[in-house]
Amino acid sequence: MKRVMVLGAGITGLSVATNLASKGFDVVVLEKEKHAGGLSASIPFGEYVVEYGPHTFHTVFDELLLRYKGLAGRDFVKNRLDRQINFRGKYFKYPLQFTNILLNIPMLTSAQCFFSFSKSLLLRKLGFAKERNAEEWLTSYFGKELYNIYFKDYTTKVWGVSPSKLSKTFVSQRIPKIKIREIIMEQFKKRTIKMRKGDHIYAPNLSHIYYTKKGCGKIIDELSERLAKHNGRIYFGTALTALFLKDNKVSQVGFTSGKKQHQIDCDYLVSTIPLNDLLLAIRPGPGKRMLEASRFLRYRAVTVIAIVLSKNRAIGPQWIYFRDKTFNRLTEPKNYGLSLPKGKTILYLEMASDGKNVSAKDKENLVRKVVSELVKERIIRKDEVLDSFIIHAKHAYPIYAVGFEKNLSELESYIESIENLYSTGRQGLFKYVDMDICMRMADIVANQIAGQKMKEQVFITSGEKAFI
Ligand SMILES: Cc1cc2nc3c(=O)[nH]c(=O)nc-3n(C[C@H](O)[C@H](O)[C@H](O)COP(=O)(O)OP(=O)(O)OC[C@H]3O[C@@H](n4cnc5c(N)ncnc54)[C@H](O)[C@@H]3O)c2cc1C
Repeated sequence: MKRVMVLGAGITGLSVATNLASKGFDVVVLEKEKHAGGLSASIPFGEYVVEYGPHTFHTVFDELLLRYKGLAGRDFVKNRLDRQINFRGKYFKYPLQFTNILLNIPMLTSAQCFFSFSKSLLLRKLGFAKERNAEEWLTSYFGKELYNIYFKDYTTKVWGVSPSKLSKTFVSQRIPKIKIREIIMEQFKKRTIKMRKGDHIYAPNLSHIYYTKKGCGKIIDELSERLAKHNGRIYFGTALTALFLKDNKVSQVGFTSGKKQHQIDCDYLVSTIPLNDLLLAIRPGPGKRMLEASRFLRYRAVTVIAIVLSKNRAIGPQWIYFRDKTFNRLTEPKNYGLSLPKGKTILYLEMASDGKNVSAKDKENLVRKVVSELVKERIIRKDEVLDSFIIHAKHAYPIYAVGFEKNLSELESYIESIENLYSTGRQGLFKYVDMDICMRMADIVANQIAGQKMKEQVFITSGEKAFI
């Protein structure tokens, strides 16, 4: 029986592992944490769970939605997407609806927005627009005024660098554009937004999201159970130490579990851990240039503060973006369908950060600060706060810095040159994607290993090349 080692038990690792175990492979998963799920985990705190922002499912692929439904079983919930952005004390629908913005800001600003949007649209149509980085791309699609008002500070806050230092790949793949046809349509009817030709698949403009009453952890538990049913194993709390190459193939994986050192032979290795960590483990080493390229790939961390409240609901929409608070996104998982004890709700507050761990003292201060911000915003009262929890992920967002594509592309070529090594998923491909795309990547890798004919072309991650 051929052995597949999988690094990481996030949604990608579990999906590949379950797929291959069901096809008769001997599958061993190494996970450095004590729980499965990675960024998609629901981490239990007593009767509550905390996620890195409620991990809802959304996809343009019917087959994946069907699979998700099957995994969620009776706990499946479907909701119309309802997001807002807070700006200068007012709430706007997100993605930005042009008329909604114009009607809610001072007339002069509104006129400036309209003219700068029209000007940039004209420049783009005439082929004069410069779109070399995120700042130029956003200005080209939204106009200078809207860029300054909405995107500049928020993007800088989330990514820790000015949009002029970010690659346009990031925004062009993640930010829904304003479409003239939609501006007109939004006046007349509340339509169901459907994926159209030309929309990007990573952050499509969809109308519904899917979740489970038990949170995303239900999906992770179900995948783990299916893996176990097919005799797949997960070793938790294991740290990768080395990947040994022989004849241009990974022959053995070295790892520690507690104080013990282990080495396991494998026929295939699927890595879903951060690409730069993978590079560091390869023996013999990949060489100076590859290590240099891998150092170029940096991640932004996220801290999530969860506040339990003695009230039924706190906000109307599922989530609100804030530009002037300690946190950048506020979500209420109950509005996605999470089951909670009667008369209680929980808020998740996401805060992008530079990766340093939050000390116990910092945690106390942080909770105090965000509670006072929520009170000031009249979202909660101080006496409604019952409890608080904090979770932290170091590799939350791949930073698409200007020039990352070239470095990534070199790393991909190197990884591809090792015959039985597959690096995939959000971390393994350094790609800012959601769970559905991770599942799709997992299918592609599993099918390749199982030797089945591929329907899609396997993609190269860099630049604008789509992978499907
Ligand atoms: C704040 C936030 C909100 C999000 N919201 C959504 C959402 O609502 N919907 C959605 O679809 N997507 C969402 N995403 C994206 C989604 O979380 C990811 O696309 C997905 O979870 C990535 O899965 P993965 O398995 O590829 O990577 P990960 O989840 O990062 O899994 C990698 C695993 O590898 C393990 N690992 C790392 N290093 C090692 C090592 N050396 N040895 C062994 N194991 C190791 C990690 O512990 C982890 O378990 C969100 C992401 C963030 C940051």
